[in-house]
Amino acid sequence: MILFRSVSAFSNWRNRLPSEGSFVSFIPTMGALHEGHLSLVRRGKLKNHQVVVSIFVNPTQFNDPKDFQHYPITIAQDLTLLHGLADVVLLPSVEEMYPDGLPATDRYQLQGLEEVFEGAFRPGHFQGVCQVMNRLLNIVQPHRLIMGQKDFQQCMVVRALLEQRGDQNLVLEIAETIREESGLAMSSRNKRLSEEEKIAAATIWRTMVSMQKKITAFQIENPQATEGQQADQVKVWEGEAVDALKRAGFSSVDYFRPAEKKYLANWDMHQPSVVLCAATLGTVRLIDNLPLS
Ligand code: AMP
Repeated sequence: MILFRSVSAFSNWRNRLPSEGSFVSFIPTMGALHEGHLSLVRRGKLKNHQVVVSIFVNPTQFNDPKDFQHYPITIAQDLTLLHGLADVVLLPSVEEMYPDGLPATDRYQLQGLEEVFEGAFRPGHFQGVCQVMNRLLNIVQPHRLIMGQKDFQQCMVVRALLEQRGDQNLVLEIAETIREESGLAMSSRNKRLSEEEKIAAATIWRTMVSMQKKITAFQIENPQATEGQQADQVKVWEGEAVDALKRAGFSSVDYFRPAEKKYLANWDMHQPSVVLCAATLGTVRLIDNLPLS
């Protein structure tokens, strides 16, 4: 495994890779790695593929300075975990990623995705995601970009970014969410939960599964439901989910409802959909989702 602490050294390596017959699988991360990240890294390893992992806690995607300050940093442990799985690890500095300083000023057109769900609760977050992703893609020049469905909306945002960039030879692969046995989605932020809170946090999973069942039953029983009836039903489901999470000890629930899958527009029972959730337990804000078949 080669470790590059500077973009220029990495670029030397990248430019020397033959343009034919060798490929790059890229897994961008913010470190504090867990089994969810490692599942993406393992997926990267195909014949003739170099697996590149970046670790960079991107300041421009944190709308809450406290969240940025408290973001766990475990580089030594991360490198140990990556040994034998990644071919190359890139640890760029903020100065190299943002040579023109902060805040970055580039802006991206996200087709409504930044106004809903996470976008509504974390202003500027997805612009920050696009800023860093655009720079990383220019540096790494991957053939495959592997991201976790855990951050469902982020995947849709990055898909919109890739459409804008018009990358010809780049495939976005979205990998399934890795969960604890309890159903709790693995997340770097789980490190800040107590053992008791981790048990309570699994309520998110159970509530998503329960909502999925209610949605399926509603679709079977009400095949002719109007837009208005569907919207009313979503409110009922959301109310029930919020109650379940509050009973489990969550202090607030930002959203817990189904949406149309591609732009996260209002739920429409005839379109592919996904249940999305964000809720706070103690000092930790957790997000999760469940795509519906
Ligand atoms: P992060 O370090 O949080 O920026 O995450 C880096 C990548 O790992 C993103 O593509 C995430 O969606 C993905 N990821 C995070 N948690 C999980 C998980 N539990 N299962 C699968 N992928 C994950």
